[in-house]
Amino acid sequence: MACSAFAVTAMDDDQLECQPAGAAANAGRAQEAECQARTPAHRSAAKPAGKAGGHHGGGDGVPHGGGPPPAPPPGVPQEAEGVYDHERCGNTSGRVLLTLDDWAYSDPERPVRIGAQLQAQGVRAAFFLINKYAAQYPQVASTLRQQGHWVGNHTVSHRHLPSLTDEESKDEIRGGVTGNLLRPPYGDFGEREKEIAAEAGMRICNWTIDTHDWEKTQGNARSADDIRASVRDATPEEKHNGVVLGHLFSNYPEALAGIITDLQAQGYQMCRNTGPVGEQVPNPLAC
Ligand SMILES: [Zn+2]
Repeated sequence: MACSAFAVTAMDDDQLECQPAGAAANAGRAQEAECQARTPAHRSAAKPAGKAGGHHGGGDGVPHGGGPPPAPPPGVPQEAEGVYDHERCGNTSGRVLLTLDDWAYSDPERPVRIGAQLQAQGVRAAFFLINKYAAQYPQVASTLRQQGHWVGNHTVSHRHLPSLTDEESKDEIRGGVTGNLLRPPYGDFGEREKEIAAEAGMRICNWTIDTHDWEKTQGNARSADDIRASVRDATPEEKHNGVVLGHLFSNYPEALAGIITDLQAQGYQMCRNTGPVGEQVPNPLAC
């Protein structure tokens, strides 16, 4: 994976840069890197994709009616009951969960604007916030939950957990956003992190589709169109009970409306927004 050779170095609250990671580079799994492009100009974004039932209330609107969960596409096995798959975060609904990570650095209100747009489309997403920022703006997490979105723990300061001492790793995990879903930075964790999370009552939640929205080519952030295409072109296995990874600082938020349109055109449904949620995320996910 291209980004496995990079890790993030915090420069200040408004700027992050990708830098070679050294020890972090050997992890065998897809890793995210939080590479802050200049904060993307916020376009008044994401028009609802023509969905019926768009609403701003905290009510019980569900975008696709109350039908049975979608069947897996041909060739995709039904998820085994009772098995927790950390890449699917307990998503056994058949639907797709969109997730948004990190923070929107110079634009702390961006998450709640994105949250309102998704809510208006009847979509429930999950936000994994870096707590050193989120703790300064507690209304962000509370508003997101009020909008019907889950808010998860993405540690205190987004360090590479397996490279830390026992105490450091514990502090990073335990000091994160209160809740029971943990997304380790770069998706990387070891047995130790699994134990720390389990002791704290947290489940690890990674993803099946990485939009690579953090990637830069010759200094340019990945475009919304390219981000959108990476979801559209993912495999049925990745989409059914799928979890999509993107970031609050990238062009991913601008791509969300198109991602939703494409997935629906391919016969997939989004995790449904059924109104305000609490800090605890159910397992299996209530999608
Ligand atoms: Zn992250």
